[in-house]
Amino acid sequence: MTEVDIAVVGGGIAGLGAALQAACLGRRCAAFTGGVPGGLLLSIESIQGLPGHPEGIAGYELCPMTQEQAMDAGAQCLPDEAAALVPTGNGWIVRSVAGSERGAEGSVRARCVILAPGSRLRELDVPGEQRLAGKGVSHCASCDAPLLRGRAVAVVGGGDAACQEALTLAAHAAEVHLLVRGAALRAQAVWQARIQAQRKIVCHLQVRVEAILGDATVRALHLSGAHADGMSELAVDAVFVYAGLTPNTAFLDGVAPLDAQGRIIVDATLRSPVRGLLAAGNARAGACGQATGAAADGQAAAWAAHRFLENDAWPG
Ligand SMILES: Cc1cc2nc3c(=O)[nH]c(=O)nc-3n(C[C@H](O)[C@H](O)[C@H](O)COP(=O)(O)OP(=O)(O)OC[C@H]3O[C@@H](n4cnc5c(N)ncnc54)[C@H](O)[C@@H]3O)c2cc1C
Repeated sequence: MTEVDIAVVGGGIAGLGAALQAACLGRRCAAFTGGVPGGLLLSIESIQGLPGHPEGIAGYELCPMTQEQAMDAGAQCLPDEAAALVPTGNGWIVRSVAGSERGAEGSVRARCVILAPGSRLRELDVPGEQRLAGKGVSHCASCDAPLLRGRAVAVVGGGDAACQEALTLAAHAAEVHLLVRGAALRAQAVWQARIQAQRKIVCHLQVRVEAILGDATVRALHLSGAHADGMSELAVDAVFVYAGLTPNTAFLDGVAPLDAQGRIIVDATLRSPVRGLLAAGNARAGACGQATGAAADGQAAAWAAHRFLENDAWPG
């Protein structure tokens, strides 16, 4: 079994940031990064709001670069998903999904664990969504936008991600319908201003998608709500769903305390109430939901873990 000081669970910017910082502090560190490291940022064409990158940077550049940086600093990146955490007398064993078949070989023993499993895009849970997934129902605007040149598309959601991806689509599609459940957009002012300035984007407030229609591919959406022109069917060739996030914390049930949304509860130094377990990034309660914040969380959690390894002190 691999033995380290700090194990990290999660291959997004928070987990990679934690692994990088832990290695820089001279700690033996192994990170379970899942199959494809990078997390939600990996498919973002231009990550906005990063200090020093006024034009943004592509997720597919930033994420592999950060992973390489962590590995160059000495962190091990394991392309496995963590399936379970088992407490030992003096720390934790992290078992991986693939490792369960290989026994101890696929497990990591560590004094402390930084949990950074992030979150995934929520589904609408409406008829047609599963059947037409990959046939016009998508969670990746940058991947599919070039295929939709001159077409009509819809984006579901009213937050930053929905606005950002609507703008990505507007660079290719003929019209983009932004379908918002609430009475106003929730996105930061900077995104709202850009949405207003893009004439291809039509914003529909207080609408709900009830069903996704189509045989081989998406043909239309069935809508309900107080939309301006009273339509009940909107003809589109694709629909992109950015209607909230669900934390990837099911595997922690009964191990670490979670809040009502399933996020890991931590104190100001990112320690959970359970000795040796810390959390960073989108999966922890109170996260700001931004890339810089997630990376900073990873760093801060690695420092807190480093101090714990020095002084063995834990609150409570
Ligand atoms: C469409 C969209 C656009 C965005 N654009 C921006 C932007 O422009 N600027 C910005 O600042 N923020 C942006 N964000 C927010 C940003 O993506 C998140 O703040 C950031 O990705 C959070 O990083 P994270 O590491 O906490 O989680 P994630 O990015 O979710 O990464 C977690 C990773 O851990 C993996 N994982 C989960 N469970 C396990 C497990 N058990 N074992 C191993 N690995 C596991 C996941 O598969 C994933 O790869 C955007 C988000 C979306 C959805």
